[in-house]
Parts: sequence; C-alpha cells; structure tokens
Amino acid sequence: MTATSLPKKSCIVCGRPVKRRTYDVGVEPISQRTAYQGSAQIVADIASKADCQRHTNQPYIVSTVRGPDGWIIRFTVWDGVSYFHRGYFCTGNCAQAQGYASAEHGERYVWKRGE
Ligand SMILES: [Zn+2]
Repeated sequence: MTATSLPKKSCIVCGRPVKRRTYDVGVEPISQRTAYQGSAQIVADIASKADCQRHTNQPYIVSTVRGPDGWIIRFTVWDGVSYFHRGYFCTGNCAQAQGYASAEHGERYVWKRGE
C-alpha cells in the first residue's frame, strides 16, 4: 500500500491530523553488514516499500529511510487503527479544550459516586 491510501483521522476540536501510533523497524542491508552491525531487527537488502511489506505483517508501510548506499535501513509501520489520544484529538491541549467546553455546556460524567 502507498502513503496516499493511509486512513487518517482529524482532531474533533481543531481539524488537524491525529497522530498515528507507529513503530520503526531497523534493517541491516546484507551488502553493508559491517557498517550497520548490531542494532537491526531484519538483515536484508530492501529497496522498496513493497519489499518492506514482505518483512512485516502490519498492513501499512508509512515511511522509509535509506542509507548512503541506497538500501532501506529503517521503515515505519502502522496497524491501520491505532492513534494517539484515542483518535479524537491532535494533542492533550485539544482534549482539555473539549473537556472545558463540555463542562461549560453542562456535560457531567460521574467517575465517583457520592460527590
Ligand atoms: Zn486539535
């Protein structure tokens, strides 16, 4: 899949994108083994996002980073559903703004009984 097909969510307060929960996968190109030795999770010569896809069971390759020799040395994957702030807000500030606005409009969520 390409980046243009990535699902996205917008903050319900300000409309900016909600950050996806992604993680990075380190790659050690076989042809550069001495240069990157040690930290990579995958040892392979990976040249494209399609090649990255073969090394993960996550549905989306968000981005790639290439080393000086042109092989991919890191790529970022996403499960297609995980966002920060439960998918509603771009930041904690917008979540807080929503909380204040809700309170001022009379919304009450009871977390504890007897108060
Ligand atoms: Zn926002």
